Amino acid sequence: MIKFSPPHIDQAIIDEVVNALKSGWITTGPRTKQFEKDIAAYCKAPNVLCLNSATAGLEIILRWFGVGPNDEVIVPAYTYCATANVVMHCGAKLVFVDVNQNDFNISFEQIKKAITPNTKVIMPVDFAGLPCNYNELNDLVKSAEIKSLFKANTTEQEKLGRILILSDAAHSFGATFNGKNTGALCDIAVFSFHAVKNLTTSEGGAVVFNLPEPFNNLDIYNALCIKTLHGQNKDALAKTQKGNWKYDIVEPGYKCNMTDISAAIGLVELARYDSMILPKRKHICETYSKILGQHEWAQLPILKDDQRETSYHLYPLRIKNITEQQRDAIMQKIFDADVSVNVHFIPVPMTSYYKSIGYNIANYPVTYKNFSCEISLPVFIDLTDQEIITVTNAVISAVESIIQTN
Ligand SMILES: *Cc1c(COP(=O)(O)O)cnc(C)c1O
Repeated sequence: MIKFSPPHIDQAIIDEVVNALKSGWITTGPRTKQFEKDIAAYCKAPNVLCLNSATAGLEIILRWFGVGPNDEVIVPAYTYCATANVVMHCGAKLVFVDVNQNDFNISFEQIKKAITPNTKVIMPVDFAGLPCNYNELNDLVKSAEIKSLFKANTTEQEKLGRILILSDAAHSFGATFNGKNTGALCDIAVFSFHAVKNLTTSEGGAVVFNLPEPFNNLDIYNALCIKTLHGQNKDALAKTQKGNWKYDIVEPGYKCNMTDISAAIGLVELARYDSMILPKRKHICETYSKILGQHEWAQLPILKDDQRETSYHLYPLRIKNITEQQRDAIMQKIFDADVSVNVHFIPVPMTSYYKSIGYNIANYPVTYKNFSCEISLPVFIDLTDQEIITVTNAVISAVESIIQTN
């Protein structure tokens, strides 16, 4: 069976994790701090905070910005539930908008229609690793017309004076837009290091700060270190210093820090990201495109255009003119050929909970259309050229058997 995206755990990672275990320091400490600095250098961004997930990072930023009841947050309907759930946690109004047909990303036209005086945050998602058009988004929220609608209710909102762009960059570590890394394209970006993501720490995430003046990104980093550690004004490492045992709780904070064991995995992953991880993923995706591009029924994902290059996180193939039922039947045949495939994603408005509170996929027709004909192919470091052929053969014969029975 060809798996979908198993992690690549080799001796270098095992050695570094063992080093962390033997170092006498296993929670947030020197390795996490080093990992944060290395990510900041990689993205060319001022400050990075590592946490135990991207979900925690997205939520902590909504909370830091003071998002709550009566506020609205704009999110694409076609994303993983994490993007939506964090808005619910804050008690704010979740405003789904539809996506583009061509690249799966949130529709700029639909965002413009969805903005109201209560809009506080827009959360674009770099679907499959392909960056959204951040120039367009940044210009929109900075435009006089949209700024004049904005109602600031907190100090942070007043300081920014406009809608915050909080990028869900869970897929797009290493992707670029106009030559810039996805960590440096908008106010704040959040990466995921979950086991299936391009760069993993088993579980983990990073918040990348790029807030404009008069914000001081280092001050915000320091404040959020406290907010993500119970509101305790000294972390465990600081408390180990001689005589430094006294601490205070300055707010009822959260608990979502990254451990040094996780950071040990991330340090090894990041050091070889550009030399090994990205090129391998790129090779797999390009090979899929070369082979499947010969078939009229295949709609290939955009990997690169004149402004953007993906991180090659997912390979979201679409099959032209099929129904959701045909897609499911094709997937079954691919699984029968011992190849694992997936669908990214079941649109959030189609899930039980979100339906029960009134969302309806009929309002997001492009999302539904993209979903109904989408099949994600396996992309992972240890996938061999021979296996790539096995995958494409399985896809081709499955598709051709189903579309022929019509
Ligand atoms: C994986 C993922 C997340 C959540 O990442 P975690 O690190 O697991 O919290 C958020 N958004 C999208 C689009 C994802 O795919």
